[in-house]
Amino acid sequence: MTDFQSEKARLIMALRGMGVGETEVLAAMEQVPREQFVPPALRDHAYENASLPIAMEQTISQPYIVARMTAALQLTGRERVLEIGTGSGYQAAILSFLCRRVYSIERLRPLLVEAETRFRQLKITNVTTKVGDGAKGWPEGAPFDRIILTCAPPSIPVTLLKQLKTGGIMVAPEGRDRTQNLVVVHRTEDGFEKQDILPVKFVPLIEG
Ligand code: SAH
Repeated sequence: MTDFQSEKARLIMALRGMGVGETEVLAAMEQVPREQFVPPALRDHAYENASLPIAMEQTISQPYIVARMTAALQLTGRERVLEIGTGSGYQAAILSFLCRRVYSIERLRPLLVEAETRFRQLKITNVTTKVGDGAKGWPEGAPFDRIILTCAPPSIPVTLLKQLKTGGIMVAPEGRDRTQNLVVVHRTEDGFEKQDILPVKFVPLIEG
């Protein structure tokens, strides 16, 4: 039986070495068994710092990017967070340890069914999910303290910006295939302040 503890510890140390200093984020990543979120054939690669294919031509993000995006959200434990692109559920599981409730939208039902099974197995009860077009957000739940996109729109949909609270933070990959940037948007009294963080490569957000 493989026990991934040492692989996991090595990955966490590597992330620290790459400049991820947020202890709470690393602790949350230590809590979540990434091997349960990847296809069985790829379990042995679960603790490499790499994105991996999941079902239906989608991917589970690279741990370093998960760490950076999670850190950028500056969670205190009290937030309601909207995620667009549940995928395997890995990012949502990390968030579940750091905020009050995660609302996660996925357009591909089979992926969502698998993600929900994982949440149940891990006794994660503060993630609410639905199938739908994340570009429309979750109007019944809005406004949100934080919003995270794990699929890339050409530019951030205004509908989503409107669902962010004043004082809230959004993290998203933005741009077309070859030229995506991870952006952090702070909503202030005066409007939106946007910063580019680093170049990334996410699967596209597909509308409708
Ligand atoms: N957060 C995921 C990453 C999944 S990849 C994880 O940790 O595994 C991005 C996901 O976004 C894919 O599953 C894709 O189906 C989904 N997606 C793409 N466009 C979408 C849309 N408009 N609404 C909701 N989900 C979308």
